[in-house]
Amino acid sequence: MRLLLVEDDPTLGPKLQTALNKAGYATDLSVDGIDAEAMGDIEPYDLIVLDLGLPGQSGLTILQKWRSRDNATPVIILTARDGWEDKVSGFKAGADDYLAKPFQIEELLVRINAVLRRSAGLKPGELAVEGLSLDEQDQRVRLPSGEKLSLTGTEFKLLRYLMLNPGRLLSKSTLTEHVYQFDSDKDSNVIEVYINRLRQKLGPDLIHTRRGQGYIFGREH
Ligand code: CA
Repeated sequence: MRLLLVEDDPTLGPKLQTALNKAGYATDLSVDGIDAEAMGDIEPYDLIVLDLGLPGQSGLTILQKWRSRDNATPVIILTARDGWEDKVSGFKAGADDYLAKPFQIEELLVRINAVLRRSAGLKPGELAVEGLSLDEQDQRVRLPSGEKLSLTGTEFKLLRYLMLNPGRLLSKSTLTEHVYQFDSDKDSNVIEVYINRLRQKLGPDLIHTRRGQGYIFGREH
């Protein structure tokens, strides 16, 4: 899952970015309202965490512009203001959730998790698809046999994206865009290597190759 974090606070921004990356979300940080608006339109983010008070233009204005252009990326608003009027205008502008500062990072993580589930049309809680269940806290997967396996950071990110998109044809470039952040070295051939590693761990039947097109997660019905 690829996230955009828009936060101009020089302490909180990098701190949240580190925590989100650690939680397996490839996270880009923007500290400016103008850049953030463009990034949110151009890059294929799965979710955006948006501060309201920003240099350039406010988070609320950015959100209104995104929604007016049919950019439906889920947005969680982050702000120091927690008055009910701000919440109402945030939701009216098209926010999916709202978190008032100060907050614990754990709370942001569970909210991100819930919003991502909802936007994928899955029920909240444990991510369980095709007999696999993903422990997102420990970044481990439980096989249908009950065996629990550890995953590396990239294996975890890739498997979570696959499990959130079962039955969908996903190209290598789509997987690359949703697993790596902006400034990382994006070589889509590496995806093949990680797909093969996941097959070795999960068994050969769960990830199907469509030659020249990409991959589909899930058993064929
Ligand atoms: Ca701010």
